[in-house]
Amino acid sequence: MLTDYHTHTERGPYTVAWLDRFLAMARERNIEEYGVSEHAYRFRQAGHLLDNPWTRERRTEDLDEYFRMIEEARRQGRRVKFGIELDYIPGKEEELSRFIQSYPFDYVIGSIHWLGNFGFDLLEMKDQWNGRDVRTTYDEYFSILMQMVESGLFDFVGHADVIKVFGHEPDDAVFLGEWYDRLADTFSRRQAVVEVSTAGLRKPVGTLYPALGLLQACHRRGVPIVINSDAHRPEDVGAGYDQALALVKSVGYRELTVFTAHHRSSVPMFDDHPYTQFR
Ligand SMILES: [Zn+2]
Ligand SMILES: [Zn+2]
Repeated sequence: MLTDYHTHTERGPYTVAWLDRFLAMARERNIEEYGVSEHAYRFRQAGHLLDNPWTRERRTEDLDEYFRMIEEARRQGRRVKFGIELDYIPGKEEELSRFIQSYPFDYVIGSIHWLGNFGFDLLEMKDQWNGRDVRTTYDEYFSILMQMVESGLFDFVGHADVIKVFGHEPDDAVFLGEWYDRLADTFSRRQAVVEVSTAGLRKPVGTLYPALGLLQACHRRGVPIVINSDAHRPEDVGAGYDQALALVKSVGYRELTVFTAHHRSSVPMFDDHPYTQFR
């Protein structure tokens, strides 16, 4: 079976009619289990977690309204998971934990989009990459990623090497390889689940997250995966899955992780749907 747990409906209203467009695309692409994972920073209930001028301007939504859409969809017979994409902030573990427990999420995606006030994946902050040392920035990002996984707060790791989003990559295979091993060691020891995301295919970097080397390091240590699109539009649900499936298959993965109320289990991904049928 296939799943798509990392999607955002935020460009439309919190209505079942809008959600249905995402569900329709999931159905079209043979994705049996679909979930929404809105960005926590958009909700006033999460305003105390990630507070900077950029998020403050965009904190316009009510999480209860989002949850009510999910409840209403379920009441009408839709199968949809309730998730959230939550920025890990070092030092805020207690607040994050309280927030996670305050809603009946099926899963919480741990992501990092900020290094201080530098939203490194935002187009409007892209210029701040100029003059930054790429290796130092990677060190900073991967260190926070390790702390995030050590915290044990999250159900899976979102887009683990999204730091490459605009194509800034250290031209140093040893540097990256050492990080991949350290990260995969931590994922394995903390029993983390890692996302294979097709979002990078739609970004300047033009490749999947994570890099092949990191995925291989994860597979060697038995770290489980999920495959997600990070769709922000209905048409992107399940987008690029043929490439993601080809990659994970080549690395040796045969199972995906499914989540219900933070409980995880593994399901075979190829048995009933050979990857060649996804477009
Ligand atoms: Zn993200
Ligand atoms: Zn996302």
